[in-house]
Amino acid sequence: MLEDLFQYIWKMKLFDTNNLHTTDGESITLFQVGLHNLNSGPDFLNAKIKIGQTLWAGNVELHIKSSDWLLHKHQSDPSFQNIILHVVYTDDKPLFYADGKPIKTLVLKNHISNDVIQKYQSFKQNNHNIACEKSISSVPKPFVHTYLESIIVKRLEHKSQHIEKLLAENQQHWEQSFYLQLASNFGFKVNQVPFELLARNTPLGIIAKHKENIHQIEALLFGQAGFLNDTFTESYPLMLQNEYAYLKKKFQLVGIDKHLWKLSRMRPVNFPTIRIAQFAALIHQSSHLFSKIIAAEHPNELIKLFKVAASPFWDGHYTFDAATHQLKKNIGKAAIENLIINTIVPFIFVYGKHYGNEDKCELAIELLEKLSPEKNTITQLWTLAGVKPNNALQSQALIELKNNHCDQKKCLQCGIGHFIIKNN
Ligand code: SF4
Repeated sequence: MLEDLFQYIWKMKLFDTNNLHTTDGESITLFQVGLHNLNSGPDFLNAKIKIGQTLWAGNVELHIKSSDWLLHKHQSDPSFQNIILHVVYTDDKPLFYADGKPIKTLVLKNHISNDVIQKYQSFKQNNHNIACEKSISSVPKPFVHTYLESIIVKRLEHKSQHIEKLLAENQQHWEQSFYLQLASNFGFKVNQVPFELLARNTPLGIIAKHKENIHQIEALLFGQAGFLNDTFTESYPLMLQNEYAYLKKKFQLVGIDKHLWKLSRMRPVNFPTIRIAQFAALIHQSSHLFSKIIAAEHPNELIKLFKVAASPFWDGHYTFDAATHQLKKNIGKAAIENLIINTIVPFIFVYGKHYGNEDKCELAIELLEKLSPEKNTITQLWTLAGVKPNNALQSQALIELKNNHCDQKKCLQCGIGHFIIKNN
């Protein structure tokens, strides 16, 4: 028996509460087990317990063995001198307060079912990616879905931290912070870092001055990304090269190294060259993008804003050095939804929080509910375990659950874990 499990069993009353007695034979009736105290002092505060004929209100201390009281030196700590009950798993030593009176003790060993202990041990000891993957299918779907809804705010709050950092770095400049976050998201994990570096080295103010001219935006972005340092034969990259040389000198720009970009094992439609060209097209085709995003109320309005295609040169190219078959390079639906989930929704949430606008925070959650679930290694693991997300709210919550609960085996603090331990 471990201390955290014992505390959990007490907190959740996962024991037979009938026929409870102190070690000296007084009957015990539990009204409230108390509030779990995570700071110094007794383990549970403000419990309400009837011992014999007296109703007590006060603190409770828990130990695996009663002798732990002495081991932890509670006998000389004033905050433990007025506890109303000492709850132990086994009683190996009679205990007394400083004034010599016996400490009222409840022994729980024979009141705890082995099933509870075994369930807990199976969570702790198995090496599955999701410790409860063999038993989660026994949890009713509506319960799982409601639990996921309760987690989504935590997911958005975690994501908010990065945006708040960006806002602080950029003197609360929403458009610049949004530009940095959107650029980094355009890298779609593999090229997230170089995309963010590209945006950091190419201030939004300079891009905005040239937003009416797609060639100048492309010259700036491809030049800064290091893609215009090669020797070209086709007229389009040569023109961008000249344009960039002029703009670089004018604004004293410093670009990034082309080798930072990853192209290997990637489908050509996801090449960084294509993503940069789409990013350039988005900047070129949208005015006041951030304001429009904040004003949007439905995913379809957002999807419409991101329905852009790379400039015509890219219809016949995936890179600057080789012509290919003709194909319009639109931003695909899955990529747009990914941008909405990972950039737009968190920004709307932070904006709502920042301006005390709860409707915006709720809208962020509603948008997730209306978008398709993400397909990635984490959602695949959940699907294999029998929890298939129906929308992006559920897929985001499952990612949060896996990263911040399952990976740390926090099953005792998880609603699903609690359901399994209690009901199986
Ligand atoms: S934290 Fe919850 S969902 Fe994750 S493995 Fe434990 S019980 Fe299952």
